[in-house]
Amino acid sequence: MKTPVTVLGLGAMGSALARAFQAAGHPTTVWNRTPGRAPELEGVTRAATALEAVNASPLVVVCLLVDATVRSTLNGLDLTGRAVVNLTNGTPAQARDTAAWATAAGAEYLDGGIMAVPAMIGGPAAFIFYSGSPVAFERHQADLAAMARPAYVGSDPGLAALHDIALLSAMYGMFGGAQHALALTGSEKISPIRFTEDFLLPWLTAMLSSLPRIAKDLEEGPEPGAAGSNLAMQAAAYDNLLDTSVGQGVDPALLTPMGDLLRKAVAAGHGDEDLAAVVGLLRTGS
Ligand code: NDP
Repeated sequence: MKTPVTVLGLGAMGSALARAFQAAGHPTTVWNRTPGRAPELEGVTRAATALEAVNASPLVVVCLLVDATVRSTLNGLDLTGRAVVNLTNGTPAQARDTAAWATAAGAEYLDGGIMAVPAMIGGPAAFIFYSGSPVAFERHQADLAAMARPAYVGSDPGLAALHDIALLSAMYGMFGGAQHALALTGSEKISPIRFTEDFLLPWLTAMLSSLPRIAKDLEEGPEPGAAGSNLAMQAAAYDNLLDTSVGQGVDPALLTPMGDLLRKAVAAGHGDEDLAAVVGLLRTGS
């Protein structure tokens, strides 16, 4: 028999996770604060209380709205012998605190970061970061694969959230740039569909291919004289981005910080280097 699994939280994501476990043949018990959520879920056992749900399975997956609700839901429960896998979005600090709290309550704790939307769960493109108890991960890796490809990133429980938030940060930066581009072209009534298909997507795809070189510069140090697009040139040209925004009646708020950073990099003596030099300037040490 496959490992029995409990899922706490039947929101959009929790119900997708429960469906994936059930479809993969795991006896699946679910609980939600408000009864009656996800009525379409079939073949699962609905527990009346969180206590009943936790006691039903050695593997307990938690997917609630925010970190504070995880503790208020599990508070007072004996978690001895359970692997608690918390997939609720949170910060690295919250993950470390919740790990210490859950471990004190007897659990083997894994924190997770879901890199998918609900419709992707159980499909090939979804993956989930995990960090925390290596024992729990080894024991349940195959079970967790029912939801999405598992990616274990270390025993420090905060590392899954750090990886998750790093990817979300990159995503919002990318979307912010794309939104700005569409606002600019929209100021001249250029078709968003044509512009995106013909130019925006191919351009971003081509530019993304420079990421491994930026990573190599960071890890191994910049190759002298290798910068094809040095920062002094980029900082000088950047004013044209800001001036064009203002001229087209588009708020430059999403672009301004990058211009500040490029000028700071040049002032700090990195003018002949490439974009990797900017990464260090973002670290404030806090
Ligand atoms: P929903 O808003 O659809 O569901 C929220 C869930 O949290 C519900 O089950 C809700 O229960 C429960 N909840 C909220 N407050 C409490 C509380 N005080 N006590 C107990 N339960 C509570 O959110 P999602 O399911 O979409 O998201 C769940 C988690 O997954 C979030 O942390 C989210 O960031 C993360 N995530 C979501 C993604 C997505 O695309 N949806 C993608 C990646 C991560 P009730 O029905 O009683 O309100």
